[in-house]
Amino acid sequence: MIIVMKGSAAKEEVQRVIATVEELGYQPHVIWGTQRTVIGAVGDERGKARLQSLEVLPGVESVVPILQPFKLAGREFKATPTIVKVGGVEIGGNRLVVMAGPCSVEDEEQIREIAVTVKAAGASLLRGGAFKPRTSPYAFQGLGPEGLQLLAMARKETGLPIVTEVLKPEDVDLIADTADMLQIGARNVQNFALLKRVGESGKPVLLKRGIATTVQEFLMAAEYVLAEGNFNLVLCERGIRTFETATRFTLDLNAVPVLKKLSHLPVIVDPSHGTGHWEYVPPMAKAAIACGADGLMIEVHSRPETAMSDGIQSLRPIRFQQLMREIEPFVQAAGRRL
Ligand code: PEP
Ligand code: MN
Repeated sequence: MIIVMKGSAAKEEVQRVIATVEELGYQPHVIWGTQRTVIGAVGDERGKARLQSLEVLPGVESVVPILQPFKLAGREFKATPTIVKVGGVEIGGNRLVVMAGPCSVEDEEQIREIAVTVKAAGASLLRGGAFKPRTSPYAFQGLGPEGLQLLAMARKETGLPIVTEVLKPEDVDLIADTADMLQIGARNVQNFALLKRVGESGKPVLLKRGIATTVQEFLMAAEYVLAEGNFNLVLCERGIRTFETATRFTLDLNAVPVLKKLSHLPVIVDPSHGTGHWEYVPPMAKAAIACGADGLMIEVHSRPETAMSDGIQSLRPIRFQQLMREIEPFVQAAGRRL
């Protein structure tokens, strides 16, 4: 249910509604608006009729049900776009945000070199996995805590905030100590214990769509993070599994306008995993901007031929620089700035 307060409602009246929502056993989520304040009451669907009676409280204009199953992620609850701040970078605003870096952090020289080049080319965030989800247990699993330290070093040198993946609930505190943004990978999109923990952490979260996740399931996964009171959430379309084998995945760009219509959360696109091949990354990056994405995540490696993971889909620094120049007219046409 959404409790819409009158434009003239006093702060005490809002507080009273919040307290009553809690007394009834629901969780209040408040959006303090400049025009009017709304309170989302989230909890057991069965008893929600009782919330209707809040209409009699002073300052309340109306109490309306939220029809979509994703209560907090939807536009019904929050009509205006959410802007997520990571370090000093705003995602979901006027600027198109580019996150770039290697698939995996491999060693000091590798991450430093890539961080410096992507920063010079105009990236605003540095990506790099320290804990890697790999299909094979024999493949490189990431440097772990040492990788986090190397990312911190690269941040210190470049000033770029860092986004890195967390695989397990018990690693959230450790990774949140260093990272500016926690990435939930495609394989963990429905790891509900992990979603709750990153929600509790309050850190900005980058939630990647699963390879077999519908838009609705994706938004329900987002709901787990929001339900913990953490609205610093960015969605990432990174390709889904289809019958097509010419590319690693099928980048579902339909999902961008659909997610934008249904949700207030920022949406970025990862054409590196979405295509699986460096040659297809630039055209799909441009298409992502054209269809309304708030940002891009791009894998970059100085020597893709020796990369520990995802070399084939990684851009060399020179190609990344070229891409950053080539996207400019697309960014402008989409009414944004780089
Ligand atoms: C990654 O970003 O390197 C990664 C593993 O992504 P995904 O979870 O989308 O496969
Ligand atoms: Mn990767």
